[in-house]
Amino acid sequence: MENGEPDLSRYLEVAHGAGRCAVLTGAGVSAESGVPTFRGEQGLWKEYRPEELATPEAFMRNPELVWEWYEYRRGILEGIEPNEGHRTLASAEKIFEEFTLITQNVDGLHQSAGSTDVVELHGNIRRDRCNSCDARRGEEQGRECACGGLFRPDVVWFGESLPPDAISRAFHAAQSADLFFSVGTSTVVYPAAQLPYLAKEAGAFVVEVNPEPTPFTPLADLSVRGPSGYWLPRLMDPLMPRNGQGVD
Ligand code: NAD
Repeated sequence: MENGEPDLSRYLEVAHGAGRCAVLTGAGVSAESGVPTFRGEQGLWKEYRPEELATPEAFMRNPELVWEWYEYRRGILEGIEPNEGHRTLASAEKIFEEFTLITQNVDGLHQSAGSTDVVELHGNIRRDRCNSCDARRGEEQGRECACGGLFRPDVVWFGESLPPDAISRAFHAAQSADLFFSVGTSTVVYPAAQLPYLAKEAGAFVVEVNPEPTPFTPLADLSVRGPSGYWLPRLMDPLMPRNGQGVD
C-alpha cells in the first residue's frame, strides 16, 4: 500500500451502497491551495508555535502579537483559491442521501468551492467577535467593542470549547455514517480527532487521505497516501450520479 496504487474494490463496493457519508477535513486539504499547515516544515511563525499564540491567555497577555499573527494568516488567504479537493467535496453533496462536511479549517475555502453546509468546528478566521459579549465586529469598528471588551478572531483557541451545535452535529454525523473520510488531518487535536474513531466504532467504513501516516491509520479501512487534491477526485468521481467527466 505504501508503494503503488491501493486496491479500491472493497471501498467502491461499500461506497456505492452508502446512504450517509461524513467527511472530516483538516489543514492538509488546504495545503495545495498554499495555506500552510500547523504541523510540518511551515509550522513556525517567527519563533512562535501555534500552541503559544492560539490561546486566550496569549491574547490577554499580548493582543497585539496575536493579532499580528492572525493578520499574517489572513494575508496568506488573500488571493488563495480552493483546490480540486475542496471542489470534489462540494460536488459530493450530490452523491449521498445525507452528506455532512465537518472541517477543522478556519479558512472558509470549502464555502468558496461551493459547499453549502459546512460544520465549522474551529470557527472562521475571516470573522471577528468580542471576547466579552460575543458581538460580531462590523466593518467600521476598531479593536475595541462598545461593551469594553476586545475584538478577537472568531476561531476556537486551544483550551476553549467548540461551538456546541457544531460538535453535536459532527458527533451525530460520525456515529450515523456508513462511510466516513478523514482527510488532511494529523488526528491529534481533540475532540475533532475523536470523530474517525467514533465512526469506526459505530460501524462506518473509514477512509483516510493523507500523505503521512497518523495515529488513526492502523484503524482505517482504507488509507491512501498522497495529497487530497489527487485522491478525493479518484475516490468520489466514480460515485457521481452521472460521471461524464474524467478525473484529471
Ligand atoms: P495539522 O497541521 O495538524 O495537520 C495537517 C495534516 O495534513 C498532516 O497530517 C499532513 O500530513 C496532512 N497533509 C499535508 N499536505 C496534505 C495534502 N496535500 N493533502 C492531504 N493531507 C495533507 O492540521 P489539523 O489536523 O487540521 O490540525 C489542527 C489545527 O490546525 C486545527 O485546529 C485547525 O483549525 C488549524 N489550522 C487550520 C488551517 C486552515 O484553516 N487552513 C491551517 C493551519 C492550521
